[in-house]
Amino acid sequence: MPVDLQYPDGTVVAHPDGVTGLDVARSIGPGLAKAAVAVRLNDSLLDLDRPLESSGEFAVITLDSSEGLDILRHSAAHVLAQAVLDIFPDATFAIGPPIEDGFYYDFAVEEPFTPEDLERISARVDEIIAADQLFQREVMTVDEALSVFANHRFKVEIIESVEPSELDGGEAVTAYRNLDFIDLCRGPHLPSTGRIPAIKLLRTSGAYWRGDEANEQLQRIYGTAWASQSDLDAYMDRLEEAAKRDHRKLGSELDLYSFPEDLGIGLSVWHPKGGVLRSLVEEHSRRLHAKYGFDYVYSPHLAKAGLWETSGHLDFFAENMYPPMQIAEDPEYRVKPMNCPFHVLIYQSRGRSYRDLPMRLAELGGVYRYEKSGQVHGLLRVRGMTQDDSHTFCTEEQLQDELAMHLQFVLNWVRDFGFEDFEADLSTRPEKAIGDPGPWRVTEAALEQALQTSDIPYTTAPGEGAFYGPKIDVHIRDAIGRRWQCSTIQLDFQTPDRFGLEYVTSDNTTDVPYMIHCAKAGSIERFIGVMVEHYAGAFPMWLAPVQVTVVPVADRHLDYAREVAATLGEAGLRVEVDDSNDSLGDKVRTAITHKHPAVIVVGDADVEGRTVGLRFYGEDGDTRGVPLDEAGKSLVEKAAKPGE
Ligand SMILES: [Zn+2]
Ligand SMILES: [Zn+2]
Repeated sequence: MPVDLQYPDGTVVAHPDGVTGLDVARSIGPGLAKAAVAVRLNDSLLDLDRPLESSGEFAVITLDSSEGLDILRHSAAHVLAQAVLDIFPDATFAIGPPIEDGFYYDFAVEEPFTPEDLERISARVDEIIAADQLFQREVMTVDEALSVFANHRFKVEIIESVEPSELDGGEAVTAYRNLDFIDLCRGPHLPSTGRIPAIKLLRTSGAYWRGDEANEQLQRIYGTAWASQSDLDAYMDRLEEAAKRDHRKLGSELDLYSFPEDLGIGLSVWHPKGGVLRSLVEEHSRRLHAKYGFDYVYSPHLAKAGLWETSGHLDFFAENMYPPMQIAEDPEYRVKPMNCPFHVLIYQSRGRSYRDLPMRLAELGGVYRYEKSGQVHGLLRVRGMTQDDSHTFCTEEQLQDELAMHLQFVLNWVRDFGFEDFEADLSTRPEKAIGDPGPWRVTEAALEQALQTSDIPYTTAPGEGAFYGPKIDVHIRDAIGRRWQCSTIQLDFQTPDRFGLEYVTSDNTTDVPYMIHCAKAGSIERFIGVMVEHYAGAFPMWLAPVQVTVVPVADRHLDYAREVAATLGEAGLRVEVDDSNDSLGDKVRTAITHKHPAVIVVGDADVEGRTVGLRFYGEDGDTRGVPLDEAGKSLVEKAAKPGE
């Protein structure tokens, strides 16, 4: 059947029956044909050699796009599996998807892979790429697929679990073959293994089949693949930079927090210096909440299971909740995964009228979520966290102002912590959302209006809202360009309904309030983890657990050093005196390694003239002979909290 293809520039071109994506790319230009890795026809990605069977929107996919990179990385995962099965004939393979910046593949093997294994696998990968084997698509029935993959139990499980509706043409599954290696797969792939420009195997780790600890443990190999060697080199540099900033490593070097094995996966303890940092973040949260008219409340860590039934968490969030606790005749209790229902109970503690609204409740609430162990990562993904959570109840008339205020608040929050590069996503009504579309229209428009007046870049993600309302997510970009989700402003029509919330209006009728969930940091733990990596541990002075180290040149200067420390301490600075036996040079180096923002050195001339030598982190050399009161003044200024 001849097809009409609409190119990205809008032109429509007729092509004859049986034309392939590669033919079309060639007809556009030889350069494009050479760069092409697949094509997109309407919503489907297709291999270059597939005949195009319907008309529609058409685009050639190259490695310049994220889709192209996904195809490259997915193809690279096949080659990795092929290499592993070549070298370990008794191994079997599970799944191997592309992920951000790379790919992985999971294997069941007798022994975990050693670094030497990884080298051998890597060498085999290179051979397979050099051999430039074609990736060939094969369509087979379920029964054929079961026999082809009979020796590979995970593939059999995948084939058996495919829903009939997911099967291509109702009953066919697809696989891709290169030489004697075949993998179950939907595709598409690069045309051949030789089209992988740059690949590197990175590391191995344990993983569970389907991510579930109850299942068999597998061995995962992570790799990365890029459109060019220089892209790969740049990525390896970024990884190295990220490793230097790893908040788990810095947390231990700077003595901030740790994750003791005896405590449990995804749980942290905060050491005194981390405690200072954390309380500064929390105090700032309280200060800003007060400034924006929120009241602080407290709630317990447990509640009867019935509360979580009413709130809907047991329907929609049960997987992430810890199992119930049952004590004698008492009802079941659950540890809280969120603070919301408690704030609803405060709202409900007495009758409310329009005069009580807007009512803004905030809490630094400890919540617990059961995350799969494979997904737990330092402070970034934890099982126990503190949310700087707020819930605002308001009337429809107040909605616009409230949303604008909430957005202003979160933007001030991230700016105060030194993040200048951020963007927002507006997620709107999902197709399967139930109930009246009226509130969706009102609140989506209000959120959009708030975004437009705030003047920050945003994109709309149609249909990505939660089932109970639209939301704005704010993402921040860190010092090495990584994007982190941080603040959220979430509308909720569901909870007020479920709990039967109401208020008396000025006409003496009753109405249901709107509810706005808002997290500024998200989780305090995660926010601090991101911040440690963003600053590589060298915090702005107001957040530094130790702001000034005073170093005496010799023992005879120790008394004066202590006097300097006391003077600065009285001015509100956090000061340490290094009275160790180390040499002067070592003491200064220690302060720099610990990333203390300021180092003060005092010697004979300073004792005499009541001066200090002052040196700031990241600056070369120090300023000698600064009068003590002057040094104090400038340090206090530098240490001012945002908004002070
Ligand atoms: Zn594949
Ligand atoms: Zn909430």
